Amino acid sequence: MLILVTNDDGVHSAGITALTRALKKVGKVVIVAPDRERSAVSHSLTLHSPLRAEEIRPDVFAVDGTPTDCVSLALHGLLDSPPDIVMSGINRGSNLGDDITYSGTVSAAMEATLMGVPAVAFSLAEGPFSSRHFGHSAQIAAQICRYIGSEGLPRDTFLNVNIPKGKPKGISMTRQGKRQYQDMIVEKLDPRGRKYYWLGGSGLGFEDEPGTDSQAIGQGLVSITPLHLDLTNYKSLQLLGQLPEAIGFDQGPG
Ligand code: MN
Repeated sequence: MLILVTNDDGVHSAGITALTRALKKVGKVVIVAPDRERSAVSHSLTLHSPLRAEEIRPDVFAVDGTPTDCVSLALHGLLDSPPDIVMSGINRGSNLGDDITYSGTVSAAMEATLMGVPAVAFSLAEGPFSSRHFGHSAQIAAQICRYIGSEGLPRDTFLNVNIPKGKPKGISMTRQGKRQYQDMIVEKLDPRGRKYYWLGGSGLGFEDEPGTDSQAIGQGLVSITPLHLDLTNYKSLQLLGQLPEAIGFDQGPG
């Protein structure tokens, strides 16, 4: 089994090191990851500057681009054959609810899915994030990797896995939760008396909905959410059916 490992915390992070160590028992591992932290870059691609991939150790490439660049470069240039699976992480900090739309970790798995390769994003929900604290999550990642290696994943589906701090009490299959956005911006003054802003204040929580990723993590469970890339809101497709006529156009075919 050929396993491509990437992340958004950078090629030197403790999470990718722990993940790689555990996955080496499952198959051959090649790492293609950003040369520095690129958290919250989402699914961005580098289109207006060249990319460099330096092989810093055998089968370990440091790329001066985003996680999506890394997957794309690995699949279309660096690897001799396509990987059987892409494993992204283990991220420092959770990727739950609406946060997954910002996540570089999740977007790397998304990119792999677009290319037809099964993929999983892993995040350790809470610190400390020193290498020994990634142990449990890396073991679970290896078990999930082995499972997908033999069973595969449904078409157009990838997994977002969040792992609680400490020894998990179990595993819950979940749906994506919802962020509560409040006190999002911290406003302060710099030493010269000018205002500056910092995104992501302390007031961020999640709605406590049953069956969600955030609730599972709150209960000390591993959360596994199957995701897909079709963002269509099918219910609204019906609800908004009158829109073309309402603004004076004929309803087109389809
Ligand atoms: Mn990150």
